[in-house]
Amino acid sequence: MAARQKSLNRWSWAEIDLSALKHNAQTIKARLEPRTKMMCVVKANAYGHGAVACAKALRLAGADQFAVATVEEGKELRAAGITQPILILSEPPLEAVEEVVEANLMPSVYTSDFALAFGEMSAARAASGRYHLAIDTGMTRIGIAPEDVVEFRSAIDFHRGLECAGTFTHFATADTPNSWDFELQLDHFIKAVGALRDAGFKPGLVHAANTAATYLFPKAHFDMVRAGIGLYGLRASNFEPKDLELEEVMSIRARVTRVVEASLGTGVSYGFDYRVPIQGTQIATIPIGYGDGLSRTLSGRMDVLVGGKRFKQVGRICMDQSMFAVESRNAQVEQGDLVTIVGRDGDDFISIEDMAELRGTIGYEVACDFGLRLEHIYV
Ligand SMILES: *Cc1c(COP(=O)(O)O)cnc(C)c1O
Repeated sequence: MAARQKSLNRWSWAEIDLSALKHNAQTIKARLEPRTKMMCVVKANAYGHGAVACAKALRLAGADQFAVATVEEGKELRAAGITQPILILSEPPLEAVEEVVEANLMPSVYTSDFALAFGEMSAARAASGRYHLAIDTGMTRIGIAPEDVVEFRSAIDFHRGLECAGTFTHFATADTPNSWDFELQLDHFIKAVGALRDAGFKPGLVHAANTAATYLFPKAHFDMVRAGIGLYGLRASNFEPKDLELEEVMSIRARVTRVVEASLGTGVSYGFDYRVPIQGTQIATIPIGYGDGLSRTLSGRMDVLVGGKRFKQVGRICMDQSMFAVESRNAQVEQGDLVTIVGRDGDDFISIEDMAELRGTIGYEVACDFGLRLEHIYV
């Protein structure tokens, strides 16, 4: 698949396949009961894929709501005309209350100080005051302890400016089937929501499942799931169902900016970790480096694709540029040639997951990193 090159002023870019994104969203949605809502998680610039364009595409593919990590991320979506409910996945600082209300964002709530300040501001602005209550069922990250939820709601519910639009938790081990830890969290959550209802409090939309829980634990779907990584076609669990056909959405491409035929022993990049081993080896430069998310830890350990053939990246990856070698006499590259760093080229494919494995991390981080600076091209 050749990249369509627009008027880019730099020869490196992230190519985002919006039809793959929509396909993935529909594939996930198809696993839900018709009444179950889908919240699409587009935090961290949609895991590096570009939040606005992805949210617009996901809206067409059945996203009922969106989730972000920060107030700024929520404001960006509002400015782009996204009108669906937007949840901020943690409680913002008190100082942010006004902006949260102004942008009509739903905060996660778990301190009464924040809840009451949010209620005050909402009432003053005649805004909805809709929030989601976070419960810490075992992740030990955010939320109210399950045994405190009734007391918490009792302490804040008097406020006319507040409306509980949802109650949620987050699983620490949803990627592992048959996990006692998962069952324990689920049990704590069900009991806490039950206790709220028994005490006469409406929980709003009840939700807990991330991508992995969405496909491994249908019993954890409740009223809504929160799908993130699966939308982008990346792996949430090593136990992904065989029939789940997700497609990677992001490819990383560049064009060769310079080629030299180097003599034997020529050093390449900082520190000369690589020296040309064969007279006449071509050293090609591409304008992408660790400032773009191509981790320096990959130096000398990754391949790139040109014309469907693999070449090894050589020398240390610099901040903005890196080099690869054409050691074989049977191949030639030229300035302007299309280089695939992640994605398909001819019959070969370099997956974000392959790169994650080389880096000793997960696809989530690799994708986020490529969102740092590269231009996004939507295809
Ligand atoms: C990031 C996040 C998600 C999405 O998780 P994925 O594994 O990407 O599907 C869901 N819920 C919360 C609270 C999150 O922080």
